[in-house]
Amino acid sequence: MGISVLPGRPAPRAAASGSRLARPGHLHPVRGRRSPPRVPARAPGAPSRGLPGSGSRAFARTGRSGREPARAAGPKLGRVERILVSACLMGRRVRYDGAAKTSDDALLAAWRKEGRLIPFCPEVSGGLPVPRPAAEIEGGAGGAAVLDGAARVLTAAGADVTGAFLAGAHAALEAARASGVRLAILKEASPSCGSLVVHDGAFGGGRVPGDGVTTALLLRHGIAVFGEDRIAEAGLRLRELERAAAPGERRDPV
Ligand code: SF4
Repeated sequence: MGISVLPGRPAPRAAASGSRLARPGHLHPVRGRRSPPRVPARAPGAPSRGLPGSGSRAFARTGRSGREPARAAGPKLGRVERILVSACLMGRRVRYDGAAKTSDDALLAAWRKEGRLIPFCPEVSGGLPVPRPAAEIEGGAGGAAVLDGAARVLTAAGADVTGAFLAGAHAALEAARASGVRLAILKEASPSCGSLVVHDGAFGGGRVPGDGVTTALLLRHGIAVFGEDRIAEAGLRLRELERAAAPGERRDPV
């Protein structure tokens, strides 16, 4: 519909943005077509989106963080390496006792800001509840023995939870592969996530050298795993990976 102009009166000027005529659904007086709908602003005090999955019911159910886009905040990188991280290290209350093991490591915090981290709990993802009975690999045999069917994961009462641990390990590998992960930082001594030591299977607090089921599977597929006490070491590996991925473009993310 056109705009009628009364004789002797000036034609209306183009409506300023935000005027009634420029509102969504109204014909624009100059261009003669509908202006696009406005994107509603976030209400003051409304929560912003945090890390995907953080505090969500979906995370508690699956142990997965959902979609956490790789944001190249800060330096421009040839390739942004993503890092799989034990969810309990990032403050998620997913441990067997319902607690978290939050890491206050500065490097981990910086990576989190950069959007590199993929929080993941293999045991929750494998179908185990929170809280749940503590479990250990029998005889402290290590994750590789569980993957090979040579050892089970048992609770103190003798319940066999091997299937859930294997399912969680494969889900972790799938999540890592989906994001091209080549590096993981996992909670030390866990029957899933341990990388240097695991409990000895006697439920008395004893530890033996070895790794957890998820760690063993990730290692078999070429993913480097570091415990929470070796994050600086993981940082060096990260630099190597990013330099190799972008030769001649020497930009250090850390
Ligand atoms: S150590 Fe691994 S399996 Fe255990 S609660 Fe943390 S993320 Fe989950």
